[in-house]
Amino acid sequence: MKLCMIGTGYVGLVSGTCFTDIGHTVYCVDKDKNKIKKLNSGKSPIYEPGLDELIKENLKAKRLFFTTNLAEALIKSDIIFICVGTPNKKNSLSVDLSYVLKAAKEISKFSKNKKIIVTKSTVPVGTGDLIEKILKNKKKFTVISNPEFLREGEAIRDFKYPDRIVIGSNLQSAFKLMKNLYLPLINKGAKFFTTNRKGAELIKYASNAFLATKITFINEIANLCEKTGINVEDISLGIGSDARIGSRFLRAGPAYGGSCFPKDTKGLVSIADKANIDLSLVKSVIKSNENRKLLLLKKIDKILGKNIKNKKIAFLGVTFKPNTDDMRGSVSLIMIPCLHKRGAKISYYDPTGVKKEFSILKNCNFYPDIKQTCVNADLIILHTEWDEFKSLDFNKIVKNKKFILYDLRNIYSLEKMKQKKVKYFSIGRPSSN
Ligand code: NAD
Repeated sequence: MKLCMIGTGYVGLVSGTCFTDIGHTVYCVDKDKNKIKKLNSGKSPIYEPGLDELIKENLKAKRLFFTTNLAEALIKSDIIFICVGTPNKKNSLSVDLSYVLKAAKEISKFSKNKKIIVTKSTVPVGTGDLIEKILKNKKKFTVISNPEFLREGEAIRDFKYPDRIVIGSNLQSAFKLMKNLYLPLINKGAKFFTTNRKGAELIKYASNAFLATKITFINEIANLCEKTGINVEDISLGIGSDARIGSRFLRAGPAYGGSCFPKDTKGLVSIADKANIDLSLVKSVIKSNENRKLLLLKKIDKILGKNIKNKKIAFLGVTFKPNTDDMRGSVSLIMIPCLHKRGAKISYYDPTGVKKEFSILKNCNFYPDIKQTCVNADLIILHTEWDEFKSLDFNKIVKNKKFILYDLRNIYSLEKMKQKKVKYFSIGRPSSN
């Protein structure tokens, strides 16, 4: 089939490229000229393991095309995927649909013959109806919901081996068409789940809110563990082994972040508010997650004896999770400016390089390796769980023998840290000293 992806970001680029890999021809459109130029030279503008290779291969095979010319791409395609961003409106919980609706207007303007429009963007319940209203000649279009569940950092695997493919439509013919599109993945075991359009739109928000709730639950339990001398990892294992609960998303850590959970929990609350439904549970998850960032800062105060000024604080990893360069919703975006404002001297290293988000901070410097970042540190904050941070000998790396390690990902074992006489703090576990 011939597909057009509108929006070539984390979702549009990965799913577009993977669609070519299962035999379709894909036109990826973006309004960002630099992005398209880079992609046409075979380089991915985002860090996603394995993506560069797939792009090069499929570009060469002439199955994958990158363009800023939407009109041309629309003419050549049968199915059009809307993959643009759906952030929260400024200072509001509600979802900014302007990119989606603009894309719909452009489709309506440039489409000559019958088209299938599929929303892959995460959109509030009823957005499919809004898109339909925008389309001038409705008979020419079918609007389907197909939310995307891939995770950054594991996006290619997630696309190729999804747990389920969700299709929302009020037309049987739409299910048949979408089943055909995804057949190679269904044949490999992906569940194909159909519902009405609004149902599919809600499934995506409900999934993300549920996962965010699980993380927040174990983070609150971690607070209790720290006070009572219990290891939260025992609790995660003890409850997660119950098949009704499941062990995933039960690892205590800083606070959930990223481009989806923060915005989608808020988006869901705003969708419910509009329907006069009080989602009190999701509201308290959002509040708890926000509080957690302040709680971590308070803990740093305690660790450093309320003496932050001029302290050298090194961050290992600043993205919200490993194997991605995405900074959206990362806890480091709160922690680093707060500590910097209080006079700390920040050094940081991230495998995906320097971050523009910190460039305005005077005493916040990126270093190209772990050693240079940590060598003079008073406090090292292990912020993101990249593999290269998992077996470091901090005693050899750090010159200051009184350094403290605050491990927000519980990477290191308490016993090992005790043996090595490292002053070590982690999440929901007793300190090693
Ligand atoms: P993104 O910001 O990385 O990419 C969006 C892209 O759309 C940008 O490159 C932008 O230039 C482009 N764009 C916007 N309007 C356009 C237009 N009219 N024409 C052409 N290009 C246009 O966003 P993302 O992270 O890929 O997310 C996209 C959607 O998918 C969101 O709704 C998000 O919630 C959802 N989603 C994201 C993830 C994820 O892990 N990032 C996972 C599942 C679902």
